[in-house]
Amino acid sequence: MTSKANNNLNWEIIIGLEVHAQVVSNSKLFSGMSTTYGGEPNTQVSYIDAAFPGMLPVINKFCIEQAVRTGLGLKAKINMESVFDRKNYFYADLPAGYQISQFENPIVGKGQVILDMPDGTIREIGITRLHLEQDAGKSIHDSNSANSYVDLNRAGIALMEIVSEPDMRSSEEAGLFLKKLRTILRYLGTCDGNMEQGSMRADVNVSVRRYGEELGTRCEIKNVNSIRFVQQAIEYESKRQIKEIELGNKIVQETRLFDPKNFETRPMRSKEESHDYRYFPDPDLLPLKLSQTWIDQISKSLPELPDDRKQRFCSEYGLSIYDSGLLVDDKETADFFEEVVLKRDPKLVANIVLGDFYGFLNKLGQNINNSRVSSKSLGELIDLISNKIISGRISKEVLEIMFQTGQSPKEIVEEKGLKQISNIDEIEKIVDTILDENIEKVNEFKNGKEKLFGFFVGQVMKKTEGKANPQLVNEILTKKLNKN
Ligand code: ADP
Ligand code: MG
Repeated sequence: MTSKANNNLNWEIIIGLEVHAQVVSNSKLFSGMSTTYGGEPNTQVSYIDAAFPGMLPVINKFCIEQAVRTGLGLKAKINMESVFDRKNYFYADLPAGYQISQFENPIVGKGQVILDMPDGTIREIGITRLHLEQDAGKSIHDSNSANSYVDLNRAGIALMEIVSEPDMRSSEEAGLFLKKLRTILRYLGTCDGNMEQGSMRADVNVSVRRYGEELGTRCEIKNVNSIRFVQQAIEYESKRQIKEIELGNKIVQETRLFDPKNFETRPMRSKEESHDYRYFPDPDLLPLKLSQTWIDQISKSLPELPDDRKQRFCSEYGLSIYDSGLLVDDKETADFFEEVVLKRDPKLVANIVLGDFYGFLNKLGQNINNSRVSSKSLGELIDLISNKIISGRISKEVLEIMFQTGQSPKEIVEEKGLKQISNIDEIEKIVDTILDENIEKVNEFKNGKEKLFGFFVGQVMKKTEGKANPQLVNEILTKKLNKN
């Protein structure tokens, strides 16, 4: 069935994301109450969070600083003056009847995020704005069948809403954007990026058009809480819209929900039903004015960001863009790499960190911080390889034991007798034995069956339990087999 509706070649997919990122802060945006995750319901609620009459919000300077840091990390314009507005709507988990947010005058303006595409090209995705707002509480409907409950622990926690331009063109790009944004936030330390706990979630705006046409009508898929779901939602939604248009129907602007069980989006409310929030400046809060000196101070305190770090990894360590990108994606991996690489061969270190080391971490379900292999002991293992005390093949075996026992690589090599055989006489003796035992094959080799070389190498390795220095084995075999 090759229906035209599934032929995406004529169609361009347009995506813009609105990401809610919870600010890393001990206290809430307008109250001093704790933000710790997972507390008993309603144990972290101040009178302000519960909207008791007469309570006044007091802005949390630390949260403002985090928003500015994030803005600087997104190479964005910091607005010296911004305004907090009331966004009015009525819902059980919003006791004030309004959310304090920013509308026309956000704290951060235009910026950008750079994506490294798998084909080596670069895509720049525009950031429209970043504003600060309060989170709402949580309604609980499933704890018993008779009642619904409200937990206000989350009410009033600071969120940054980061809005992108409609610059993305595929689910792949949207995924890369979210990963890159999360990496930047984690480098800055302004949001932990933990999507499972809901500290980062996205509203996904999708439209489609035939190439060259104006932007089409978009649908907004609300509150998607994993990168995979964002991508699946885009796949489904774009196909749905293409099909509608090809059937001659019009796309209606509406809010939709993603159902991860059935991989589909469903309508939630149309534009006509959409809220009129009646935004107006919150009379309890003065416009927020920042000083350039303060912004400069924050700017100086920023860490090296992933794009800069990647460039430095290329130039300072001579690594490929690809390997550098993999290393810096995760700040802890990059830090770990830099601890190991001191005075060692960067390419070898990168190969082992990204290869065997990560392989074992993934296999064991561990991470850099809780595994038994420290940067120091991995460095020692790499020294054993560089000094030709063990072969690369044996190093994998040693590393596995390091993960299991936490022993030092030297200890393991001693204990198990894994030292590489680099003594030429010794290897020659073994090679001679192998050749004597396989005279027929030696003749076949000499008569042109050169493939057999690998067989001889394999036999030597087998006899030495993988400990023979592979380079020497090659040299000696070449010499002996080519002698008449
Ligand atoms: P609203 O405030 O109603 O949500 P915005 O204009 O702020 O509307 O846009 C919200 C998001 O929708 C932004 O991320 C923007 O990039 C995206 N967007 C706007 N137009 C389109 C479109 N035609 N297709 C896809 N995404 C779009
Ligand atoms: Mg929106």
